[in-house]
Amino acid sequence: MKPTIIEQLVRPMVKEIAPYRSARDEFEDFEAQKIFLDANENPFDNGVNRYPDPLQRKLKRTLATIKGVKPEQVLLGNGSDEVLDLIFRTFCEPGEEEVLLLPPTYGMYGVLAKLNNIRVKEVPLNDDFQIAIDSVLEAANPKTKIIFVCSPNNPSGNAMPLDQIKQLMNGFNGIVVVDEAYIDFSEEKSALSILDQYPQLLVCQTFSKAYGLAGIRLGMCFANPSVIDYFNKIKPPYNVNSLTQTRALGQLEASDRVQEEVKTLITERKKLEQELKQFDFIIKIYPSDANFLLIVVDDADKRYDQFLKAGVVLRNRSRLQGCNNTLRITVGTPEENINFIEICKTINQ
Ligand SMILES: *Cc1c(COP(=O)(O)O)cnc(C)c1O
Repeated sequence: MKPTIIEQLVRPMVKEIAPYRSARDEFEDFEAQKIFLDANENPFDNGVNRYPDPLQRKLKRTLATIKGVKPEQVLLGNGSDEVLDLIFRTFCEPGEEEVLLLPPTYGMYGVLAKLNNIRVKEVPLNDDFQIAIDSVLEAANPKTKIIFVCSPNNPSGNAMPLDQIKQLMNGFNGIVVVDEAYIDFSEEKSALSILDQYPQLLVCQTFSKAYGLAGIRLGMCFANPSVIDYFNKIKPPYNVNSLTQTRALGQLEASDRVQEEVKTLITERKKLEQELKQFDFIIKIYPSDANFLLIVVDDADKRYDQFLKAGVVLRNRSRLQGCNNTLRITVGTPEENINFIEICKTINQ
């Protein structure tokens, strides 16, 4: 039985559409077959002459074990960009429905909403960049299909307590997407821990940050199996290529190294936060649960240019709501961070 809330929220078109069936959909265990004469590929083996598994079964099995979910609760996409786009297209009727965003936050939600002709309603985070729960729930109406929560939030860096996310879900009759691109750097518990209790909860993660694989473009969404079924129905059949699937599996097997890197980056973030306090041009350093720091400076445009001339590229976030004169600093390698602090000293004068 599918949860009724999902059935009520999915677009009629998505329920009705007959998906494209690729040749490779027909085999549960396509590695056990011997002769493939079904997909018009070049038969001469070069490692990637065959179409990839459209459902990435092997990768999902490994990933599901690591994340403590079932493989049928996992969608993989060509980066989070594709995953987020599929979420819009599954739930939001173009020209009619709307989503709630909590700025300042990740820019892709707004871009994808626009691209899909979905109205955006904004309820800013409060001064500590936390969710204004009551205002969010008041702003929601029957046309509001999705609330996007980014935790830890980009660009502010702070995580949203899981209790607040539960409060949102308890008071809202739509989908709540929790984007956990930076969760590996945070002490806050992942929303995956409550996935089984909330059919309307979608948790997005990515291989681009802690896993160190931004170049292979692999995003994840964890959700109720009925939601994943709809995603699978409308996604491009071969959306995750073979090279990406193989590389991701390799990285999951090297989890010790990834964990070491994450630990180093958290230590480096704390060190950087301490050292940045010595500089007069830095007015405020926001607390971070991610692999970056958002700082307030005296004059962001001027400092940004100074850093650029000194060979350091930062992200100027000053144009975002509530982020006047801010710069976002990604934590680098220990050596890069030492160099960065030395450059701060020359800029401070
Ligand atoms: C970096 C980032 C992602 C990752 O996007 P990919 O397309 O998977 O590289 C997703 N969400 C947020 C908030 C991010 O900052």
